[in-house]
Amino acid sequence: MRIPYSRPAQVGTELGYLREALEANELSSGGRFGRRCEEWLKARTGARAAHLTHSATAALEMAALLAELGPGDEVVMPAFAYVSCANAVALRGAKPVFVEVRRESLNIDPQAVADALTPRTRAILVLHYAGVPCDMAPILELAERRGLLVIEDAAHALLSTWRGRMAGTLGHLGILSFHATKNVACGEGGALLVNDARFAERAERLLCKGTDRADFLRGERPRYVWVDLGSSFALGELAAAFLLAQLEAADEITRERRAQWQRYHEAFRRLDEKSIGRPTVPAGVEHNGHIYYLVLGTPEERERFIAAMRARGITTPFHYVPLDDTPAGRRLGRAAGSLAETRHAAARLVRLPLWHGMGEAQDAVIAAVLEELG
Ligand SMILES: *Cc1c(COP(=O)(O)O)cnc(C)c1O
Repeated sequence: MRIPYSRPAQVGTELGYLREALEANELSSGGRFGRRCEEWLKARTGARAAHLTHSATAALEMAALLAELGPGDEVVMPAFAYVSCANAVALRGAKPVFVEVRRESLNIDPQAVADALTPRTRAILVLHYAGVPCDMAPILELAERRGLLVIEDAAHALLSTWRGRMAGTLGHLGILSFHATKNVACGEGGALLVNDARFAERAERLLCKGTDRADFLRGERPRYVWVDLGSSFALGELAAAFLLAQLEAADEITRERRAQWQRYHEAFRRLDEKSIGRPTVPAGVEHNGHIYYLVLGTPEERERFIAAMRARGITTPFHYVPLDDTPAGRRLGRAAGSLAETRHAAARLVRLPLWHGMGEAQDAVIAAVLEELG
């Protein structure tokens, strides 16, 4: 038996929606399925506006444009993060500043953010790792006091909540991903959530290649012209049709993943005695079961564990290489403060298989993990 780390969910309604989209013969962005996805996202998250994009990477690039980042500006972000967070900033000529994460959540450490601020800091980019929202209160307070933007990479965190509010709507701008590895997917896809009215109009223009086409389509202008920067960020209608099927099943997918996550959590309770780290969920947070991970004792133990699991046909991948410790990270960004926790986790973390419909495969993973580590 081979057990992959991740398998895209298929909920059964995708093909019908794809057929409908083909019959309507609207294939570009802005079609009925795209609009329904955006309505769903707005209604469920409470965002002021939701724009489908062809990736979360594109949504991060839109956020960097909306933030009007440029040379000399800095954006504080966790070092334990996805490369698109740093690229979005560096593509504007601004500098990513990499800071520490907390051991218990692998989310950005608010104290490290406070310590890294300079007069050049323009924004704080947080990532809700594994779908567990960050400790937002000190970050929002700091941003408010210093007049900084908060951008949330909620690529892992669709339907996760912090104090009852949805991840992706806690900062000024939020990013979601519908990449094949995410809970709800359409192959390649993402969304930008706009939570601050200041950005609403410009977000539409960026999406329309820097034109005022959205105004034109609403009948507000006789023609549309180039008015701003922009690019091709939008999601095509076929992907949106697939995505709507998945969004409509998102609660069910999330319930199942949370139950699987909880099963792992209970089965591995006894690993605490061996000083193996497991995720924690702070009070006031509801996570979406995106990732279950273990933090092993040493990097060598991790190598042995991954090889042993691979020999059993089970894929248990490690995760981010700290961004500051990469050739581009050194050239385009800088580290601020201690990154000891980042190094610790990055060298020891493994992710366990977790996917829609994994059923008995989870029993096999639990048995194998306990045999290897228990
Ligand atoms: C998957 C992911 C992205 C990028 O998503 P794409 O849709 O593939 O561009 C960005 N940030 C995080 C944290 C991710 O996990």
